[in-house]
Amino acid sequence: MAEVLVYVDHVDGAVRKPTLELLTLARRVGEPVAVALGAGAEATAAVLAEHGAVKVLTADAPEFADYLVVPKVDALQAAYAAVSPVAVLVPSSAEGKEIAARLAVRIGSGIITDAIDLEAGDEGPVATQAAFAASFTTKSRVSKGTPVITVKPNSAPVEAAPAAGAVEALAVTFGALATGTKVVSRTPRESTGRPELTEAAIVVSGGRGVNGAENFHLIEELADSLGAAVGASRAAVDAGWYPHTNQVGQTGKSVSPQLYIATGISGAIQHRAGMQTSKTIVAINKDAEAPIFDLVDYGVVGDLFEVVPQLTGEIKAR
Ligand code: FAD
Repeated sequence: MAEVLVYVDHVDGAVRKPTLELLTLARRVGEPVAVALGAGAEATAAVLAEHGAVKVLTADAPEFADYLVVPKVDALQAAYAAVSPVAVLVPSSAEGKEIAARLAVRIGSGIITDAIDLEAGDEGPVATQAAFAASFTTKSRVSKGTPVITVKPNSAPVEAAPAAGAVEALAVTFGALATGTKVVSRTPRESTGRPELTEAAIVVSGGRGVNGAENFHLIEELADSLGAAVGASRAAVDAGWYPHTNQVGQTGKSVSPQLYIATGISGAIQHRAGMQTSKTIVAINKDAEAPIFDLVDYGVVGDLFEVVPQLTGEIKAR
């Protein structure tokens, strides 16, 4: 059976959820061969095997941590040469997209970014993307070379599918560019204990209706009752009520959770662009005419200062 390369996003051996989602999609078009790089690469093998990886190619070298993406591209290219896959799947993170783009150029093939679905086709894998603020979906296929496809988090379920997961060392020769950009320092962000916005299964966002940084604790409490990430509209971010790293939308992050709760957000097109592919959308807004209600699965017309604490209390009581 044809093999599909899956680039593994992990932190010291802990595999991040978007990679497990990639394995679900990879199994639709072939047998997943995972590529795990850097410290803890071998420790990823067990969980990757549980989710369908027939093989796990691993490599560790200081270059992966000390330099930006090029060493990882060198390694992925080595895996590509060893496997001759029918597709290469990479998570749609900022780093993933850079790795994918560089690999596609090197192997002379086409790239599809931010896919939200993947299926087998007669002439190769077919990817679905959301276009024009998710008003349309398009299906595309790479017609030249092996498709390199980045997939948005939360686009596929995580499925158990036990496979061999045989670990093999990958021989990597770093090119001259590998050490071109050195990492001089890393500053870990202060942890909120909440899931990463783009990977969270549930996102609760606050907008101008929250009416001040001092009220955002209402959004955070609702988020915490659901194990959700916190998002914000640009209006809330521009007002300095919440950090830009949490902005959802055209000039912020794109999220596609199972559940998106928009509170005090009108639903401007630029906000929709970042959340419209969410599976279930709920809005709490005191204006029944707010455009967000055109988009929702469930809408609550009401004052968020009354509705949100009640909702949080009800969820906590269950
Ligand atoms: P508003 O539009 O002011 O809406 C506030 C809503 O809160 C209203 O519907 C109101 O009825 C409701 N409300 C008020 N009080 C309460 C209450 N007590 N209870 C319940 N509801 C209440 N925006 C983004 O979000 N993300 C982006 O990435 C982004 N990028 C942009 C890029 C460009 C180039 C441009 C031009 C704009 C961009 N915007 C973006 C801005 C966007 O156009 C909107 O201005 C913004 O989304 C509005 O934010 P909002 O919905 O919080 O505020």
